[in-house]
Amino acid sequence: MRPLADKFGRAINYLRISVTDRCNLRCTYCMPAEGIALKTHAEILSYEEIVEICQTAVGLGINKIRLTGGEPLVRRDICELVSGIAKIPGLQDLALTTNGVHLKALAFNLKKAGLRRVNISLDSLDPLKYQRITRGGNLSDVLQGIEAALAAGLAPVKINIVLQSGFNDDEVEAFMSYAARLGIKLQFIRQMSLSQGKPAVPADNVCTRPPDCRQCNRIRLTADGKFKPCLFSDLEIDARTVGAERALRLAVEGKPEAGQACYKREMVQIGG
Ligand code: SAM
Ligand code: SF4
Repeated sequence: MRPLADKFGRAINYLRISVTDRCNLRCTYCMPAEGIALKTHAEILSYEEIVEICQTAVGLGINKIRLTGGEPLVRRDICELVSGIAKIPGLQDLALTTNGVHLKALAFNLKKAGLRRVNISLDSLDPLKYQRITRGGNLSDVLQGIEAALAAGLAPVKINIVLQSGFNDDEVEAFMSYAARLGIKLQFIRQMSLSQGKPAVPADNVCTRPPDCRQCNRIRLTADGKFKPCLFSDLEIDARTVGAERALRLAVEGKPEAGQACYKREMVQIGG
């Protein structure tokens, strides 16, 4: 299958899908303290619609799909969606990004449904700091979720850490020994500001995310059915209005050479 290519010659083979705008945490860098105005049930894509869009996307050369949110594991019967997408011929990789709170309960069934691997977001190994950054989260839920993911055979398990100066930059070594002990991988992420465009903090040697715009192979789908060419762009193309194929092609065509800024949505509504 010849992959989709944008006008700068980048092959676009990776679709990130936000399956819900809801979340059971309120991470300070992702979601305003008061929450966001949630979409109605009718606005949110049904599982049938998402699977159909994925079939179209895979037919056009997408071979890697990641489910994100909000928090994907708060959407009811998420394993049904995973199973529907996993069956699409030609799809090579199906992954999910989660805060891990519900993984203990769901890891086994997610694996059974066809999920390959998970990224779990965890910004501190200190229970109080974790509670502070997530505005109320319980660290032990996530640690148990990580162990459940490993026991279920989801592989590789990666931990996403948004590195914040003065908050968790003193925990890099602790994270490294935790990861070595469990045999998991770490991804340190530079904190980003959607409205300022691109990372809000300078580059350093620890963070490997976000990737360089020149190497971007991504396209995004919001929970309410809009294709987004770039995290840092306000361009959105509605799959329901113009159809999935045309919306995806237009989004790929509209991909900017490098990210600019996004004012329309919060990170929680795009999925990182
Ligand atoms: N709720 C899930 C989770 O937390 O993993 C999935 C959605 S979350 C928006 C996806 C990823 O985006 C997480 O790893 C999160 O840490 C990251 N993220 C959110 N806001 C960010 C920001 N301002 N800068 C960098 N990464 C961010
Ligand atoms: Fe929710 Fe994930 Fe955003 Fe935290 S990072 S508020 S868990 S969507």
